[in-house]
Amino acid sequence: MVKKKIYSFSELSSPSGEVGRGVGIRSDFPILGRKIYDKYPLVYLDNAATTQKPRCVVEAMTDEYYNVNANVHRGVHFLSQQATDLHEQARETVRRFLNARSTNEIIFTRGTTESINLVASCFGQAFMKEGDEVLITEMEHHANIVSWQLVQARQGIKIRVIPISDEGELILDGIDDFFNEKTRIVSLTHVSNVLGTINPIKDIIRIAHAHGVPVLIDGAQSTPHFRVDVQDLDCDFFAFSGHKIYGPTGIGVLYGKEEWLEKLPPYMGGGEMIKTVTFEHTTFNDLPYKFEAGTPDYVASTGLAKALDYVSSIGLDVIESHEKDLTAYAMKRMMEIPGMKIFGPKDINQHDAVISFLVSLPSTGGAGKGAFIHHLDMGTLLDRLGIAIRTGHHCAEPLMHRLGIEGTCRASFALYNTREEVDALVSAILRIQQMF
Ligand code: PMP
Repeated sequence: MVKKKIYSFSELSSPSGEVGRGVGIRSDFPILGRKIYDKYPLVYLDNAATTQKPRCVVEAMTDEYYNVNANVHRGVHFLSQQATDLHEQARETVRRFLNARSTNEIIFTRGTTESINLVASCFGQAFMKEGDEVLITEMEHHANIVSWQLVQARQGIKIRVIPISDEGELILDGIDDFFNEKTRIVSLTHVSNVLGTINPIKDIIRIAHAHGVPVLIDGAQSTPHFRVDVQDLDCDFFAFSGHKIYGPTGIGVLYGKEEWLEKLPPYMGGGEMIKTVTFEHTTFNDLPYKFEAGTPDYVASTGLAKALDYVSSIGLDVIESHEKDLTAYAMKRMMEIPGMKIFGPKDINQHDAVISFLVSLPSTGGAGKGAFIHHLDMGTLLDRLGIAIRTGHHCAEPLMHRLGIEGTCRASFALYNTREEVDALVSAILRIQQMF
């Protein structure tokens, strides 16, 4: 039975030394107070799929709809100008968050998937021809595989895959051999949404640049957990989603170095991406608007900016240290469960706030020795005990093939999770294991 706990939230208060901070943080998220079935409070450990939203994000968006709403950029009237100001201020907030040089480098998209598709499509069109190569890795999300397969189908490019070790880390010995005169771009994830592996992208970017090749980083799973500085990384493109960092759904960001974005053709046509149009010819708008066709989600951009301000006000260093502590604690506690198999790096410095696991049936004598409890059964039973995790292939089917499994259970943490919730997860897994 999952015990009802009095939540102390002491973990989050300790890194910053600000007593009581955690209490405020947890109460910023009304949904965490929900009762699911007869279980209270909800233990939400599905943050890699999407995070919950603090009150300030929802309120900023509601306020904009109630008091400001008007289409941006094209209006001379007061509301339109105010909405435009908010939208452009949001772009500046994103620029500051990523430490980009200019707001010209910040493109609003619908999310990581659209950002990656934009780069694959436009970069492919401008810089790749039949036989040219893109380098990805074995741990990519489908968004960073299928986008390139679309280019492959259209243009006959080749997708090459950097392998991973059994530990779930990239095998970088001999990485230079992957580069040749046909390599056009490297596209890889910063953090694996399955294994939690934090890839050494700064080194990879340096190596790629030494070969004259640009790099796109999928930052969906890194931006919520630790500080990202695109100038320091020197990446050429960087993608992330608002909804995974406490912001609204339906908005994300593509960062691109200005010199690259200038060279790419537009992605979609219409709306703000034009300068002049005749039936014969169109001239395109300047950056960043060249890539923003149609009415942007200007209310979501306000929500995203609020979310980024929210995490910045807590401090990404504080969040990182809290989540590292929680992940280390969870790995330690979970390994106490007989038959537990945790995927991904054992070293907590290489492992982000995502834990993929499978548990053997008690009778089979240990992890990997016999049948695992099916991830779907585990997820469903945990749900009945008031604990939300994710199960399945996590949009990384090729990685599942590499690991020789169909799917995993995945617990993933956010700034509002606590050690008490980890304890609840561990007791619930033990209870389920006994049921089998
Ligand atoms: N890449 C990674 C590593 C992800 O975890 C996800 C979301 N699961 C995506 C890309 C796609 O993000 P979105 O659905 O927000 O576009």
